[in-house]
Amino acid sequence: MMRVALIGYHSCPFSLLGSEYAGGMSVYLKELCQALSRQGEVSVDLYTRVINPACCGPKRVFPRVEVIHLDDGPPRVLPPSQLIQNYSQFSQKLIDFLQHTGRTYDIIFTHYWLSGLIGYQLKLKKGWPLVHSFHTVAKEKTKNLRRREPSFRSRAEDFITRVAEGIVCHSPEEKAILQRDFDLRSAKIGVVPPGINQELFFPGRTDIYQRELNFSSEDRVLLYVGRLVPEKGLPLLFRALVLLREFQPVLFSRLKVVVIGGGTKREFDQNKSARELVSLVQDLHLERRVFFLGSRPYEKLRNYYCGAEGLILPSYYESFGLVAVEALACGVPVIVPRLGVFPRLITPGKNGLLFQPGEVNDLHAKIVNFLQTRKTFWPPGRISHEITRNLSWEKTARRIFLFLQKINGRRSELKTRFQHDGRPQHRQNLPPLPFP
Ligand code: UDP
Repeated sequence: MMRVALIGYHSCPFSLLGSEYAGGMSVYLKELCQALSRQGEVSVDLYTRVINPACCGPKRVFPRVEVIHLDDGPPRVLPPSQLIQNYSQFSQKLIDFLQHTGRTYDIIFTHYWLSGLIGYQLKLKKGWPLVHSFHTVAKEKTKNLRRREPSFRSRAEDFITRVAEGIVCHSPEEKAILQRDFDLRSAKIGVVPPGINQELFFPGRTDIYQRELNFSSEDRVLLYVGRLVPEKGLPLLFRALVLLREFQPVLFSRLKVVVIGGGTKREFDQNKSARELVSLVQDLHLERRVFFLGSRPYEKLRNYYCGAEGLILPSYYESFGLVAVEALACGVPVIVPRLGVFPRLITPGKNGLLFQPGEVNDLHAKIVNFLQTRKTFWPPGRISHEITRNLSWEKTARRIFLFLQKINGRRSELKTRFQHDGRPQHRQNLPPLPFP
């Protein structure tokens, strides 16, 4: 049985999804843990910070999988800029917890750059090999958004690529970006795509919008699902709707855009980006076309995908874009930017349309095209099959297991080759952490 210390520091994967800091990575960790548990070859302890005082200490969530909440400051969601001050405290808590409980691991598997730094502190202390998954990369995000991420983040990401024994990418496209931006050997990298939960996401039709929002059956619904953060580009979508109103008033008069994400009602009301988006919709006089629902439980999302004609993702940056894959698995076509994995997954006019990222005129043209040609797209069963034949969490978990096993084996080989020079063997040649 391989023992894995999984670190997903900044947000608990068992918290509400769709809020500002809980999105695709949380789904990824939860689904991966569940699939690894089913496989039975690995035991996992997932370390995360306390964001809710009611969740503290270890808790069994699946067979052979525990989530361990350690407190490192105020028990609420904090932005990465604040967590930079806290992560060393969390590492110390983790090391103390291990000392106290005697838990040991074969490998550390970290997610997002802050967790990578914690994983490295653990590796310094214990000598266990480190595998890291970035989920998003600062340099690429900065380039696409034309908005700077903290420079410490880029330095930390560069550092992690050098000190980790293995890097898990979600796609060949992410691998190419990492190899372009960092000095990273291919041998270190494993490409393992996320999966899709086929028990939750499958084709069918629902009348959820008629029941929940009183829409008429004549209304044509486009759905957005995700966090309400700048990289998701919702203002671009609203500006495209203004063009639609001006140039295709008939299509506009039948269209409704539903936005899911932004947390519970209370979180939504306190969320600055959410409030700004609501104001923008009012300023553009789109209140009768755009409907903000807040977050919906992952387990209930199929209802919303299956009630819509299409999913629209106006993003400037997507590391993978799970919501697009979920919509496709429900047989629902997508309008997505020509970036990341999308050009490979989308056959234009069949399971979706691609627009030039950040180009409002192109997005507008693709919305028009979509509304006019929607009936000629592949049937839902075919759209779904094209995506689900390759993606499942069982496949993802199997490939992650094999990659971790490979890195672990390689590490044991190296250990026996090194000469002991008096220092703890695992500390040989390890650089110090970069400072914020
Ligand atoms: N999600 C959810 N409820 C919501 C909004 C989002 O369960 O109200 C889930 C969604 O199903 C998807 C994930 O959050 O699995 C978002 O992942 P994605 O890769 O699209 O976005 P990211 O957050 O990684 O940018």
